Amino acid sequence: MTHPSNAADILASNLARVRERIDRAAADAGRDRSGIVLVCVSKYVDASLTALLATSGELNLGESRPQQLWEKAGASGLQNARWHLIGHLQRNKAKRTVPLTALIHSVDSTRLLRAIDSAAAEAGSTAEVLLEVNCSGDAEKHGLDPDGVRAVLAESQQAEHVQVRGLMTMAAREGGPAEAQRNFASLRELRDELLDAGSAPEGLPHLSMGMTGDLEAAVAEGSTILRVGSALWDGLRG
Ligand SMILES: *Cc1c(COP(=O)(O)O)cnc(C)c1O
Repeated sequence: MTHPSNAADILASNLARVRERIDRAAADAGRDRSGIVLVCVSKYVDASLTALLATSGELNLGESRPQQLWEKAGASGLQNARWHLIGHLQRNKAKRTVPLTALIHSVDSTRLLRAIDSAAAEAGSTAEVLLEVNCSGDAEKHGLDPDGVRAVLAESQQAEHVQVRGLMTMAAREGGPAEAQRNFASLRELRDELLDAGSAPEGLPHLSMGMTGDLEAAVAEGSTILRVGSALWDGLRG
């Protein structure tokens, strides 16, 4: 893929706009900006544009397909990246994915949790994960319902090489910002219930929610990790 000669400028101004949106959303919510991590979703572009982004100092990068993450993790200019897997992980891909990722956002079954536990044990590491929750009721979306979350959390007490660090969700496709905000509020409420019930003795510090279209709503509801893609690549993807 060839890129426009001013790709670096376009990317810098896209990134500046995204950072401003996050700053403003944090200020509006009365929140400390330093409590919000931006994961730059690079799934729309090739390794060289992804590496260009990394030169801006944004090193938390997200991919939704394990194979793309594997490829980019070995690419030049991306050695310092912290990779986030934000899409579905099949159990047979856990072994290769776990050693490359800082955080897996998409654990949606006890069987996957166990596969990640074995992969991390084999790698001599501890995998940090989030549990993906379906807050929108969207049938085609992956994700656990609240009972499923409780079951996976219970299982995680047995898994010595996995730490559940929080919850992740995607808002409903339909319904706009108001519906998105309701979905995000329900993720936060579920987190609070689980903590009150003692279901997560080590805490659930992270809520991964908010993308290009709904990051303001997510920050208002307590997001600690935003996953932003499209807004970064305006004018840069074919
Ligand atoms: C693609 C993707 C994103 C980024 O969405 P944008 O609307 O492009 O910002 C965030 N989260 C997940 C799970 C994704 O698959």
